Amino acid sequence: MTFQTLNDVDLTNRTVLLRADLNVPVNEAKLVTDTTRIDRLKPSIDHLLKQKAKIVIISHFGRPKGQVNPEYSLSFLPKTLEKQWKVPVKFVTECIGDDAITEIENTPEGTVILLENLRFHAGEEGNDADFAEELSALGDIYVNDAFSTAHRAHASTAAITRYLPAVAGLLMASELSALTNALEAPKKPVVAIVGGAKISTKLSVLNNLIQKVDKLVLGGGMANTFLYAMGHPVGKSLCEKDMADEVKAIQKKAIAANCEIVLPIDRVAIREFTANAPSEIIGLDHIADDQECVDIGPETIKQIEALLEETKTVLWNGPMGVFEMNPFDNGTNKVAQAVARLTKKGQILSVAGGGDTVSALDNAGVIDDFSYISTAGGAFLEWIEGKTLPGVAALQEASKKAA
Ligand code: AMP
Repeated sequence: MTFQTLNDVDLTNRTVLLRADLNVPVNEAKLVTDTTRIDRLKPSIDHLLKQKAKIVIISHFGRPKGQVNPEYSLSFLPKTLEKQWKVPVKFVTECIGDDAITEIENTPEGTVILLENLRFHAGEEGNDADFAEELSALGDIYVNDAFSTAHRAHASTAAITRYLPAVAGLLMASELSALTNALEAPKKPVVAIVGGAKISTKLSVLNNLIQKVDKLVLGGGMANTFLYAMGHPVGKSLCEKDMADEVKAIQKKAIAANCEIVLPIDRVAIREFTANAPSEIIGLDHIADDQECVDIGPETIKQIEALLEETKTVLWNGPMGVFEMNPFDNGTNKVAQAVARLTKKGQILSVAGGGDTVSALDNAGVIDDFSYISTAGGAFLEWIEGKTLPGVAALQEASKKAA
């Protein structure tokens, strides 16, 4: 994949339009409850400040649906940005137009400028050319550091690259290189670990991964659906019985692609769906009608741990069980800790992300021990589905134009 990054351009005294994802989680008092997204932008901010570039940040926040709505204003954010980035931040109440341009001109280099929510304008989500052109009037160069919005073709992620030279920010570049190393050009053998609730929401993920990885380890509710399709009883476990034909089709394709699907060999069953409910370790051949499986069993954990020892690359999405309910996070925790230990030893490259995966790995205490954990949610999932992300494609196009 070829695209230019911040490291490839001289930005001295240039005004840089930086597309960030500041759609951060907040509480009712509009206090930021998790600064991960802000902290991960710091390398780009520091790099640009060092280059004496003037930084103008554009972002969305929430879903104001093309209308000005104070509830979704980004005006609450500068104090948190200042604290995390250790740099003055000035808020500007518009994101296009003459007033915004004047405010930017009057702000000295060294102060970061944050513009109002892009989604106050319908042109943003409409990927509107005129809106993109208006945005482009605010800077000399466009830097996209918002991988998490790259699956959307919006004016600030796609159309804008027609009007300004475009490069990837350092966060975007590290996210793309982690994903490329895990899936496009990985060290083999590659294992994908996929869990979570249902296979119906991850059919494209499974169909893409079996073409690319050597082994696909399945856990969570979706393993119940596989086991059911293979004739094993599932009691009242979460199971999509109408997906049995899909399961068989995936298994057939996996054989053709030389990918081994690894399913649980034992499971943890409960009768009452609550934390600390009395549980039983059961095999695959029987389960009572009033029991449900909420985690992988100890033999399955051992099997996965052994398989990881023979692995060079791991890609992970989705928990192995109902990790929100103690102690049924055990399977997820043990597998996550094995991946973390081998990563720290330098034996494997590990990349994880999507949906609940980040909180499951946080709960397992390994958030800093994987090679890369993506906070990009939807964009991460679309990537592992094998889709082209419009924001990434736009950067690639721009770099071809520049060459
Ligand atoms: P997903 O968003 O598809 O990755 O699914 C995550 C959800 O799957 C979590 O809320 C887990 O509680 C749930 N989950 C994982 N394993 C099971 C299971 N065996 N039975 C029911 N839900 C599960």
